[in-house]
Amino acid sequence: MTDNQAFLARLKASQPVVWINSRQKPSDQALRDCHADLGLGFEDVIKACDNWQALAPLLAKIFPQLEATGGRIDSPLLPVPQLQKALGQKAKGQENEQIGHYLLKADHALPVAGSVKARGGIYEVCMHAWSLATELGLMSAKDDPITLADEAIRQHFSNYVIAVGSTGNLGLSVGLAARALGFKAVVHMSSDAKAWKVKRLEDNGVEVIQHDADYGKAVGAARIAAAPDPNIYFVDDECSQLLFFGYSAAAVSLKKQLADQGRVVSQDHPLFLYLPCGIGGAPGGVAFGVKYLFGDHAHCFFVEPVEAPCALVQLMSGLEKPVTVYDFGLTNKTEADGMAVAEVSHFVAKVMEPMLSGVITAKDEDLLRFVALAHDHEGLKLEPSAAAGLGCPQALFESQEGQAYLAKHGLSDNLGNAHHIIWATGGSLVPQEQFERFLEKGRAFLD
Ligand SMILES: *Cc1c(COP(=O)(O)O)cnc(C)c1O
Repeated sequence: MTDNQAFLARLKASQPVVWINSRQKPSDQALRDCHADLGLGFEDVIKACDNWQALAPLLAKIFPQLEATGGRIDSPLLPVPQLQKALGQKAKGQENEQIGHYLLKADHALPVAGSVKARGGIYEVCMHAWSLATELGLMSAKDDPITLADEAIRQHFSNYVIAVGSTGNLGLSVGLAARALGFKAVVHMSSDAKAWKVKRLEDNGVEVIQHDADYGKAVGAARIAAAPDPNIYFVDDECSQLLFFGYSAAAVSLKKQLADQGRVVSQDHPLFLYLPCGIGGAPGGVAFGVKYLFGDHAHCFFVEPVEAPCALVQLMSGLEKPVTVYDFGLTNKTEADGMAVAEVSHFVAKVMEPMLSGVITAKDEDLLRFVALAHDHEGLKLEPSAAAGLGCPQALFESQEGQAYLAKHGLSDNLGNAHHIIWATGGSLVPQEQFERFLEKGRAFLD
């Protein structure tokens, strides 16, 4: 068997793999091409940061939980030494000091939505509301967006619908934001959606349509239902640039957090990011911003469940035609509902092709084990999707593919100063009872 055949056999047998992107280019070239081919650049990230800032007073007004931060939606960057140690003990005597430092980006604790989706869904809903109100002549372009909270405008918005398809978390973020601004909201949920997410939406006056089908089909149904009606605005997770750039603003705040913590990023202090991937918008947006800010010193990896590696199979196969995980005999069934997506966004795949370092996959039992370890050693409340990155540094260092990547980038011998950012994408709103079940399952996989 060649290496490639062995890799494919592992992938198809639902075994964890490290896939390295052979089409990755040097950052400046990748970003130049992206600008030339797709018209996307760092100015779009900056524009998103400016918009977030302009929206902050509105957000503080419509979401009481944001009053304390003046409407800023961000999460801390946390060292997790106890968790790092606990994970290291599983690693055949490998010393963590040689690996570098694990940092957890705590988006599981993001206010309002309790997941990374707060960065995308809330942004797109507010930006849509802003342009709709301007278009309808309800406010002028010069007015502060806080005007959107005026009762007269809310009354107007009650004639309009915002719709979305979701495995759960995007529905929460879009649904709650839409309702907070006075819109009607309709969320089409895939069969993966957890019952508590449905209930929370219904309790907030969101109409939930549950499909006995996967995420792609739920999105398709939502798109078709929205198409004939000009009063329905459809948040299209499969190709939305608003979502993508809403997420991308996180890179700018990450850079500031690293600097504030005195963490240098350089060839001797490389930055690794492990970004859980579903449709690709959240990890893609963050990675896009990060590549602009840190260039070749940043190594962005997506993380996916072994049964739903949609970005991996698409990028590996080339972008000529759409590819799904079903084409590889995989089921798309996983406890990581945020990542239960069979076909990646083609928009995101195109942007990521020249800049993503690779994709690392993880088994559900490891995700659950990581949920338990993160709770028991650092008191964190993560959902399985959010814990996915915790095994990635070791997967990278211990696999043949990962070692070849490190050698190629001159990193084999100087990882002691590496920063490994594990993007924890959701979990703080998981009901305690459900969380206990994750813990119980996860602990059963501990030694
Ligand atoms: C949505 C989500 C992801 C993945 O984001 P995509 O934009 O779908 O790629 C990862 N983890 C959690 C918890 C999520 O809700």
